[in-house]
Amino acid sequence: MNINDYSGIWVFSEQIDGQLSKVSFELLGKAVELKKETNEEITSVLLGSNVSSLAQILINFGSDKVIIVDSPNLKEYKTISYSKVLYELAVKYKPSIFLIGATSIGKDLAPRVMAKLQTGLTADCLDLSIDQDGNLVQTKPSYGGNIMCKIIMPNHRPQMTTLRPKVFNPIEERKKAEGIIIKEDILVEEEKDYVILETIQQQTGGLTIEEAEIIVSAGRGIGDKENIRLLQELADAMGGKLGASRPLVDNGWIEPYDQIGQSGKTVKPKLIINVAISGSVQYMVGMQNSGYIVSINRNPDAEIITISQCAIVGDFKDIVPAITQEIKNRK
Ligand SMILES: Cc1cc2nc3c(=O)[nH]c(=O)nc-3n(C[C@H](O)[C@H](O)[C@H](O)COP(=O)(O)OP(=O)(O)OC[C@H]3O[C@@H](n4cnc5c(N)ncnc54)[C@H](O)[C@@H]3O)c2cc1C
Repeated sequence: MNINDYSGIWVFSEQIDGQLSKVSFELLGKAVELKKETNEEITSVLLGSNVSSLAQILINFGSDKVIIVDSPNLKEYKTISYSKVLYELAVKYKPSIFLIGATSIGKDLAPRVMAKLQTGLTADCLDLSIDQDGNLVQTKPSYGGNIMCKIIMPNHRPQMTTLRPKVFNPIEERKKAEGIIIKEDILVEEEKDYVILETIQQQTGGLTIEEAEIIVSAGRGIGDKENIRLLQELADAMGGKLGASRPLVDNGWIEPYDQIGQSGKTVKPKLIINVAISGSVQYMVGMQNSGYIVSINRNPDAEIITISQCAIVGDFKDIVPAITQEIKNRK
């Protein structure tokens, strides 16, 4: 492989039911930053059925080019078809950098494309930059999240990476931007190995944890499943959503899709209230970019307090109902 044959920054534009996922815009935001260092064009790669109208949106949000593969057999995400198409496109166009969102789809897709291309992939990155040799520096938590390691791929291309949603800011829209739209005609056969019988929407009770602007997050220190009620009342009073650290999910008290952290969701609400959470690296990595961080903990030396704008030291059983009552009074 001659790495000099490869150039350009590719972004996989994830869409579900014809709607671009938010992470697609976050990846474009990061791609635009990388472009300032590499001066290479940004290409969004869009797969789906009847998705051509999304191309101009991607151009308005920073893409120089959009490559579309439109086929009825790409309507729903299917591992084999999507990975085959991306592989064929990457072989033809030889991108240097290939960014994919670390979503359920991206986590399934990226390693398969990587294996077909016989290149490398750094999963779940939190940051990217370019080194003096032009390699992509990919920063990700390692050893259980206790260290941040920087990975480069000096001998292989494309440099593939999955990036966690909600880590990067989405890019601002450019008005009437111009770009090139390429429609690629790739034969996509119907997948016969498996069929989708039914799609069931995840029941999140309204907003997902990633969409919520206010989160009350429960930690192991709440001690008893019954106490979740106190936190739910506070979340309800503020129009927020209940989240949790991992022990509560392990206990089966909270659904896995409401877990915050390295092995859960990355969130970026305007306000998060951490209740009885110590502040492990694995938890904080999932919420440290939140707008305003409040932590309630009876230990004044809890690590979570170091990243909080407001700390309330005491027993949550006294503090949480008092805040809920005050909010209700003010309403
Ligand atoms: C590979 C890997 C991935 C992981 N991924 C995640 C992840 O995604 N998310 C995650 O959360 N964890 C994750 N973990 C687990 C993580 O290491 C911690 O074990 C976990 O975050 C601890 O949760 P906690 O802060 O709720 O509990 P604890 O660390 O037990 O903290 C409880 C806190 O409650 C306080 N407290 C106790 N009683 C009260 C009271 N009455 N009033 C007020 N405060 C009180 C205590 O002072 C303490 O600070 C992961 C671990 C590994 C190895």
